[in-house]
Amino acid sequence: MHTIIIGAGPAGLCAAYNLENHHIMVEKEKTVGGLGRSREVDFFLFDYAGHIFFSKDIYANNLFAELLKDNHHFQNRHAWIYSKEAYTRYPFQNNLFGLPEHVKNECINDFKEALENREAMMPINFQDWIEATFGIGISKHFMAPYNRKVWARPLTQLSFDWIKDRVKVPTLEEVIAGSRSSIADKYGPNSTFGYPLRGGCQSLMDAFLPHLKKTDLHLEKELWEVDTSNRSIKLSSGETMGYDFLLPSIPLPVLVKKIIDAPDEILAMADKLVHTSVHCVNIGIDREKLTDHNWIYYPEDDVVFQRLFIQSNASPYVCPEGESSITAEISHSPHKPIRTGNIIDEVIQGLLKVGMIDKEEEISVTDQLNIDYGYIVFDKNRTACVEGIRKYLRECNIIPIGRYGEWNYFNLDHAFLSGKTAAEMVNMEND
Ligand SMILES: Cc1cc2nc3c(=O)[nH]c(=O)nc-3n(C[C@H](O)[C@H](O)[C@H](O)COP(=O)(O)OP(=O)(O)OC[C@H]3O[C@@H](n4cnc5c(N)ncnc54)[C@H](O)[C@@H]3O)c2cc1C
Repeated sequence: MHTIIIGAGPAGLCAAYNLENHHIMVEKEKTVGGLGRSREVDFFLFDYAGHIFFSKDIYANNLFAELLKDNHHFQNRHAWIYSKEAYTRYPFQNNLFGLPEHVKNECINDFKEALENREAMMPINFQDWIEATFGIGISKHFMAPYNRKVWARPLTQLSFDWIKDRVKVPTLEEVIAGSRSSIADKYGPNSTFGYPLRGGCQSLMDAFLPHLKKTDLHLEKELWEVDTSNRSIKLSSGETMGYDFLLPSIPLPVLVKKIIDAPDEILAMADKLVHTSVHCVNIGIDREKLTDHNWIYYPEDDVVFQRLFIQSNASPYVCPEGESSITAEISHSPHKPIRTGNIIDEVIQGLLKVGMIDKEEEISVTDQLNIDYGYIVFDKNRTACVEGIRKYLRECNIIPIGRYGEWNYFNLDHAFLSGKTAAEMVNMEND
């Protein structure tokens, strides 16, 4: 049986790790890791948007520890929100302490009202769901503006089926308690997180390589075409390869367009899948311990970024001694294009505005990268289209894997598990 994995990101690497027979893995870049890669810029190491590890899954946790051995550490999350010129703890709804009194009162009163009416509410989109769940105040002061920045589109276009396990819905008592004092909390799956000590997230990706004894890895080769009737693929190098099973981790709509004999209805479904891109601006700063925070959310429109990830707090070994480093994330889409010719300058102006730096001279390094496929958009078409495409692909022995193959809101752990599950399906067929 010939198995070919497309893409050596977290999902592809974990599929290879779990396949029992010899197989091929094709990756278009020079290095493995996908969005788990890191890049070095003048002795500063930046992840692609900052990648911390957290999981409820035992296999994923064991894998993280086994791959990295001593080269990892865990820490408690210090996640904050900056709005109304004040810092409040994340998540906002549980931590109103620090906001102006009238904002706190509005959030609490509207939360109470939403709670009383929740049973009767029938939200039809994400905006409705936010208001029905948290009330107008929390929506207006954080949830709606922050999510508009992240998803880079009106929230009425989004569904809310994906949100359940991701957002904490507090009780009224918790909202009130969180408005009276600043409580270090343990809410959410990433309240404690792991990270490699040395080498950034890339070291987690590279740690797979010594285990991949049955993998014939082809770097710098891109999947060009898939011919399902002949069960073969063509690469950018001109090579043609036959497959019994194809495990692609490339974005689902991109994959469908590479299938030369894809039916029109499948192409039409692929056209309906929507995503948001994320531009990352990486900055090295000539100051020790810029802040204690791990990351900070910025819901307001006066700064271009929606989140700052403090890369140098993930590990002490990702930047030169005495320096700090951050990544600013800016989502964009045709609804909300990047509006400036010089995004690095705009980020620097934002850093000055929110007081993260005192003067431009503190900046020692700048860098930027764009993640085209950043967030999968959950809208009214997503579920039916993904199911339709998957059914068709399954008939062609194609098992899409990973965040973009499964077209789902996956973190590293889910991407690992997706690769593993697909490998186990292939192993069973081989038995
Ligand atoms: C802004 C942002 C922040 C994130 N932060 C976190 C975080 O803190 N923690 C966390 O757990 N997760 C985080 N994630 C999610 C995480 O990045 C993904 O879950 C994970 O990278 C998905 O792995 P994957 O293998 O499915 O896809 P990818 O990482 O996209 O890997 C796909 C691979 O396929 C290759 N490829 C693409 N096209 C072709 C082709 N035609 N031929 C050959 N190869 C090809 C690519 O080069 C890539 O190596 C974040 C994601 C984003 C966008």
